[in-house]
Amino acid sequence: MGFRPFVYRLAADYALMGWVLNDTRGVFIEVEGDRSDLARFLERLPRERPPLAIIHSLDSTWLNPVGYQRFEIRHSDEQGAKTVLMLPDVATCTDCLTEALDPMDRRHGYPFTNCTNCGPRFTIIQALPYDRPGTTMRRFVMCRDCQAEYENPLDRRFHAQPNACPACGPNLALWSVSGEILAEGDAALRRAADALRSAQIVAVKGLGGFHLMLDARDAAALARLRERKPRRDKPFALMARDLDQARTLCQVPPQAEALLVSPKSPIVLLPRLPDAPAADNVAPGNPTLGVMLPYTPLHHLLLRELDFPVVATSGNLTDEPICIHEEEAIQRLGHIADFFLIHDRPIARHVDDSVAWVVRGEPRLLRRARGYAPLPVLVPRSLPTILAVGGHLKNTVALSIDRQVFISQHIGDLETVEAMAAFERVVSDFLRLYEARPAAIAHDMHPDYLSTRWAKEGDFESPARLFPVQHHHAHLAACLAENGVEGSALGVTWDGTGYGTDGTVWGGEFLQGDAADFIRVAHLRPFRLAGGDAAIKEPRRVALALLWEIYGDAVLDREDLAPARAFRPSERRLLSQMLARGLNAPMTTSAGRLFDAVAALVDLHQQVTFEGQAAMALEFAVDPGVQETYPFPLVTTNQEQHMLNARVEDQPLSLGPSPLILDWQPLVEAVLEDLQRGVKPAIIAARFHNALVDAILCVAQAVGEQRVALTGGCFQNRLLTERTAQRLDEAGFQVLLHSQVPPNDGGISLGQVLVAAAQLERET
Ligand code: ZN
Ligand code: ZN
Ligand code: FE
Repeated sequence: MGFRPFVYRLAADYALMGWVLNDTRGVFIEVEGDRSDLARFLERLPRERPPLAIIHSLDSTWLNPVGYQRFEIRHSDEQGAKTVLMLPDVATCTDCLTEALDPMDRRHGYPFTNCTNCGPRFTIIQALPYDRPGTTMRRFVMCRDCQAEYENPLDRRFHAQPNACPACGPNLALWSVSGEILAEGDAALRRAADALRSAQIVAVKGLGGFHLMLDARDAAALARLRERKPRRDKPFALMARDLDQARTLCQVPPQAEALLVSPKSPIVLLPRLPDAPAADNVAPGNPTLGVMLPYTPLHHLLLRELDFPVVATSGNLTDEPICIHEEEAIQRLGHIADFFLIHDRPIARHVDDSVAWVVRGEPRLLRRARGYAPLPVLVPRSLPTILAVGGHLKNTVALSIDRQVFISQHIGDLETVEAMAAFERVVSDFLRLYEARPAAIAHDMHPDYLSTRWAKEGDFESPARLFPVQHHHAHLAACLAENGVEGSALGVTWDGTGYGTDGTVWGGEFLQGDAADFIRVAHLRPFRLAGGDAAIKEPRRVALALLWEIYGDAVLDREDLAPARAFRPSERRLLSQMLARGLNAPMTTSAGRLFDAVAALVDLHQQVTFEGQAAMALEFAVDPGVQETYPFPLVTTNQEQHMLNARVEDQPLSLGPSPLILDWQPLVEAVLEDLQRGVKPAIIAARFHNALVDAILCVAQAVGEQRVALTGGCFQNRLLTERTAQRLDEAGFQVLLHSQVPPNDGGISLGQVLVAAAQLERET
């Protein structure tokens, strides 16, 4: 990140002679000159380093003078070493933005302005080492001015591979839905802005793919977008012109502000202001908005033409990856967008916007892509080369090399042919760029995940060992790894779905262990998922399945219960048969589904259009002032009951061969009583959340493991995460949360690597 030119400039300040070299081991500098100058050089080096440079360690030693005649930047490739580090894309720096906005600058209004401190990286790299011929900028020949900057060690654009200007670089065009060129250059930008001002939907080719953009205030235009995409309820992200405009949308606390303006520039989830200039259907029923700031000059220039924030959602169809080629965009988005603002700098690979939030005072990721991928997560020990293919939803893949685990950008749900093709592209991309020959391939235990099948059927050059990894074990191992923990912990791994070692659907698990091994110490009492996958889309099915376990068939006809009312009598008969015979009704211990069931009981959602919708509604319904809770007892399998908050010292639970069970029956009964008494959903939702927190604490005390990791999709619930963490904290536990990878299945691939590595290690 511009480190060598920085060293060059620093050396020039004192007329020091010598060289600087960058290779896989780090940066090496040899300088000779006056002793006091050398001391000052050494002192300024870490202090004045470029904004994106991180110095892990700095060592120096005195050598005899060689008598260098000049200071030079030596090239790593001359030494035969190849740097494997690919950098993520970096949001436009203030220097570049200033130039793009300066009427006197030769880059005034130029949407592709960049320098060594900012601009595209991962999205333009086609081959390593990172050099212009190995990028999609290869086709543009630098003009004399740009070339001079590129060659001048004192220039901010020294060796800036994507360096470009209006005379020599990429250009904009506005296309109609039929691919006809309507305008080029500045005119294209202005006409795109005109279209946005007049309620049109514009597909904008950005850094890692297309966005669909439109006026965030325009409910009718948004409704049109939702209908065309189709995407009924899932929140859309917003792009605000600048921090000031973001503050009209949301509360922006200092840590969130730092994230918004950081070089990573993710979408940040923030509390929505009541008078925010955004229509309600941007994020229906959601008290938060996902906001990002412009991160390329193109976005800056476009947003500056407008006096309102825009919706900027991924240019894709539901479950498909984001479009990166204009021809492909016309084909796939032609029925959604009214115009296409495109450019002729090819995108080497899709990279979505990352999604982040601040929880417990730390920035944390919910989707890891632009700005973060493919930076590695550093693990405590050197690992064999392992490829992990991730899960099924929110898929990412990971590759370990030495102490680094490279994690791919978010790929998405492997539900469509396009998504599967993207998955295969990312895997081959990774193996090719890093020249890796994995000794092992880690995959989920679920036999039907497409990623699992791919791992089993893939033909690799060298035969690699396969390691099936239990889904929740991977969640736990990921959380341990990114927190640098090598010992064991209690993993509270709560999510929607994961294939268990017993072949049932797990999801409300307490796993004690480390990357090598785990014991399932506790879980939710199992229930039936009536209709299998259909139950995921229909919380009413889960609610009735729970009630059926308690009350039998009679409950299906209780018209006073919302989930029962939501079914026709004939459907209820079918449901009863399913549950009685266990046909298409697999057993589950899913915590995610328990959320769904309660959301259906209080009638927030009987059916959902996206994963997590009902659980989110339940979280948002909570009255935070409510302190009461519901009974959610921890019992042993022989039903010897231990009530919540039982003093564990007095009455230790035996952690025998069979796991402890969290019995939801008293909880569901209490919810029904509250419903009959007319208690408001806000209070029921609060008591439910409190019961979950109590239950987790109770299990943690029963197990007695000092470290507790909170992981799995359920910990995208802020209330659950914050309250649980705080209570565990107060009780003296060390709480481990995710920050570098998401708690959802986007983090699975990291965990799979660690589990496979531990198993490989144990064998040898
Ligand atoms: Zn810059
Ligand atoms: Zn130029
Ligand atoms: Fe999961």
